[in-house]
Amino acid sequence: MTLSERTDQATAQEAPGAFPHVGADLPFTIEDVDRVLAIACGRRPASRRRPVADPVVRARGVSRRYGRGDAAVDALRDATVEFERGRLTAVMGPSGSGKSTLMHILAGLDRPTSGSVEIDGVEITRLKERQLTKLRRDRVGFIFQSFNLLPMLSAAENLTLPLTIAGRPVDRAYLAALVDRVGLGDRLDHRPAELSGGQQQRVAVARALVGRPAVLFADEPTGNLDSRTGREVLDLLRRSVDEFGQTIVMVTHDAGAATIADRVLFLKDGRIVLDRDRMDRDEIFDTIKELEGDDGRLDPLEVAR
Ligand code: ADP
Repeated sequence: MTLSERTDQATAQEAPGAFPHVGADLPFTIEDVDRVLAIACGRRPASRRRPVADPVVRARGVSRRYGRGDAAVDALRDATVEFERGRLTAVMGPSGSGKSTLMHILAGLDRPTSGSVEIDGVEITRLKERQLTKLRRDRVGFIFQSFNLLPMLSAAENLTLPLTIAGRPVDRAYLAALVDRVGLGDRLDHRPAELSGGQQQRVAVARALVGRPAVLFADEPTGNLDSRTGREVLDLLRRSVDEFGQTIVMVTHDAGAATIADRVLFLKDGRIVLDRDRMDRDEIFDTIKELEGDDGRLDPLEVAR
């Protein structure tokens, strides 16, 4: 019997979860069946993934609708996901699938239409703007495709800017370790215009890390870099996870970039359709092809595996 026939049979039952015909020898669990049944019946599945051990960021039932009426766009639909401390997660998906919307909402840069988001134990969706700004400043780091360094400041000044703004003391030992990892050597006195794209992005990574944020969000961090300098930036991100225990959520459409991740999430039409541990380049390519293909459908059960 195929999965969809089994699902049809399951749908005909009154009580989800109570299926005597689903035996231990089948390649899916009762929870899987319950999840499909929930989707088939239009109910919200209990969870898109088993809870992670030590979540730094949690989103529950997050949706984001832009505009109203006929012009409304559901950029994100019912996203429930947790991000574990000290792991690097890549967020992938076709253009327009909701990657940036998810990242902006997780980072407190945008508010969801419904659902809740926690950063480091703080529910942020109901915070006032000033509280949210402070939380972002203290606990969240950002890296953008376009580096966003201040042109009139040196690399070193850019790097310590978040601490200067927050009036926080500089942890000299940590800063020295960071500068060492960034590997800019004598270029720290240079202004951004005197640095290559890769060097500028490495300053931006160090700036994002200097305040030891609970979570670092990276939006297409290699999007403006050639593959070699992009690799240097990715190595830096990976080492910040391995050596400093940093938590990173990285939006990317670059399969090579996503191979450094411990976990890869795929979005399609505003939904998280796949949630996988470390993937190699071929697996990522195949998945993207499947997502962007004519039918483009992924079995929602994949989400739970
Ligand atoms: P991705 O990052 O995967 O390319 P986005 O999150 O940017 O996707 O966009 C998801 C959907 O939401 C797209 O259809 C996009 O056009 C729409 N969208 C994003 N931002 C806005 C906005 N500010 N106003 C209206 N529609 C938006």
